[in-house]
Amino acid sequence: MDDTHVSSDLTQVLYTPEQLADRLKELSAEIDAEYKDKDLLLVGVLSGAVMVMADLSRALTIHCEMDWMAISSYGSGTQSSGVVRILKDLNTNIADRHVLVVEDIIDTGLTLSYLISNLRSRDPASLEIMTMFRKPEAAKSEVDVRWVGYDIPDEFVVGYGLDYDGRYRNLTSVGTLSPHIYS
Ligand code: 5GP
Ligand code: MG
Ligand code: MG
Repeated sequence: MDDTHVSSDLTQVLYTPEQLADRLKELSAEIDAEYKDKDLLLVGVLSGAVMVMADLSRALTIHCEMDWMAISSYGSGTQSSGVVRILKDLNTNIADRHVLVVEDIIDTGLTLSYLISNLRSRDPASLEIMTMFRKPEAAKSEVDVRWVGYDIPDEFVVGYGLDYDGRYRNLTSVGTLSPHIYS
């Protein structure tokens, strides 16, 4: 997508497509090394992780499989509660598999915490997490995130898979929304 028609909707561009690609290249080299002798299964969390999954998987130079989960988290307004419902489960049996969960953003970590305990109960050989963005609050969570693209301030961001009210997922850059969009 050409982002110019939404440029007035953003107060600030935090990451350009080039910066996102460069960071993914660094992370993919580490993930390549970690899984070079292992059969890797990438698990993407719909819908936000679609762009990260597409770009990370193609930056890898090892074989991998991909599967998807869709979850909905119940919460009041914008606050995540950690109570999660699985809308679409994996197609793959992950017992004895090396699983890497691919996430768009971790805010409180409550959603991920539920997801990880659910996946762990299925006895994977290993279970790691990669996220493109992480907010400060997530650092308080017990969930150990192995690979982080960028630690960002506690602001609402859109683009590169991240939406506001269903929109902006197809922005090629990531930025903060202008207040006039909310009102
Ligand atoms: P958590 O359970 O970690 O608080 O919430 C994670 C989910 O909240 C993400 O998968 C995403 O859907 C949503 N989220 C958290 N922060 C942001 C943000 O800054 N922008 C957007 N678009 N979604 C966010
Ligand atoms: Mg997510
Ligand atoms: Mg959303």
